[in-house]
Amino acid sequence: MEEWTEQIKNSVNTLERLKTLVNVTKEEEEAITTLKTRWGTTPYFASLMDKDDPECPIRRQVVPSLKEKVNKFGIDNYLIWKENRATEEVRPDSIARQYHDRIAFTVTEICANYCRHCFRKELVVDQELSLRMDVDEGLKWISDHEEIRDVLVTGGDPFLLSDEKIEYLIKKLREIPHLEMVRFGTRTPIVLPQRITEGLKKVLSPYHKVPIWINTQCNHPKEITEKTAKAVFDLLSCGVNVGNQAVLLKGINDNSEIFRELHQKLLSVRIRPYYVFYCEPAPGIDHFRTPVEKGAELIRDSIRGHTTGLAQPMYVIATNIGKIPLMPDYYIMGKDDKEYTLKNYKGETVKWPNIPE
Ligand SMILES: *Cc1c(COP(=O)(O)O)cnc(C)c1O
Ligand code: SF4
Repeated sequence: MEEWTEQIKNSVNTLERLKTLVNVTKEEEEAITTLKTRWGTTPYFASLMDKDDPECPIRRQVVPSLKEKVNKFGIDNYLIWKENRATEEVRPDSIARQYHDRIAFTVTEICANYCRHCFRKELVVDQELSLRMDVDEGLKWISDHEEIRDVLVTGGDPFLLSDEKIEYLIKKLREIPHLEMVRFGTRTPIVLPQRITEGLKKVLSPYHKVPIWINTQCNHPKEITEKTAKAVFDLLSCGVNVGNQAVLLKGINDNSEIFRELHQKLLSVRIRPYYVFYCEPAPGIDHFRTPVEKGAELIRDSIRGHTTGLAQPMYVIATNIGKIPLMPDYYIMGKDDKEYTLKNYKGETVKWPNIPE
């Protein structure tokens, strides 16, 4: 058995196994025994949890909490609304559409880590919602829609499929003449770096004019290890770019120093920050959400000007009508016919000549 399938087989998803790794609190134990929810992670990711601190940023993403019972600010039936599944356009269950030229293609609802803050919680974690994940039906829809240039293969985690299934998907997608790129959203470089095997590298490697792009999800600097660095290097060596889509999580990364360290550390292992998402109003994850402005403030106070532009993600709210950027907007202080007054990250100002239309 390969190391990665062993990691999945030995998933830390029972109270007994968790107890061998951390000192489980009463609250955690009650959540595990009373909530109807799928939870668990790989032994690798579990080993990064703090043994004694239930507020450990990794532990909070892994271990269920009684707070998941509270739903004061979440939207019921969130995923159906968010992915426009109840609209006029008839599409297979596997296709979520918000844009004209690109779609999200859901191919599995299995993950290596069942993130407590998952916005697809209803489908992936709590399994209250069931969708038909028929890959061939999805492929047919995509090939019938010539306006689709870009397919984002997602889940669940598509890299939990076998090498053969991933190879089949890539081959079929590349046969569709109007597709210009194939993207995968996978958390495996972070929660299961062992997944980037020689076999998978062979599937991803050969040169092809339709490129493969990957976005992973890393939310805290503690999630990045030597193994992450190696997995990302291997992906890059196959010609696959790796970006990050972090989720802004209260008490985990909503602090200036941690937020900056996260983005700098991502670059140190060759992952390019892409998005930071506002944590979505799916039911039962109120306790992970901050006020909306928080992400823009963090970018203003800890990233822009404070570190390289390469470490700069775009902060967005992912809505049913697309992603809406909410970047800090303090730069233009004033403007007249002759000039702009611009402000930098330190609060200094500069005059800049204006060109009239
Ligand atoms: C996020 C998303 C995409 C891709 O958006 P990009 O901004 O291009 O990364 C496409 N379709 C859906 C439904 C999405 O949620
Ligand atoms: S890996 Fe993604 S889809 Fe899976 S539980 Fe985490 S956030 Fe949800």
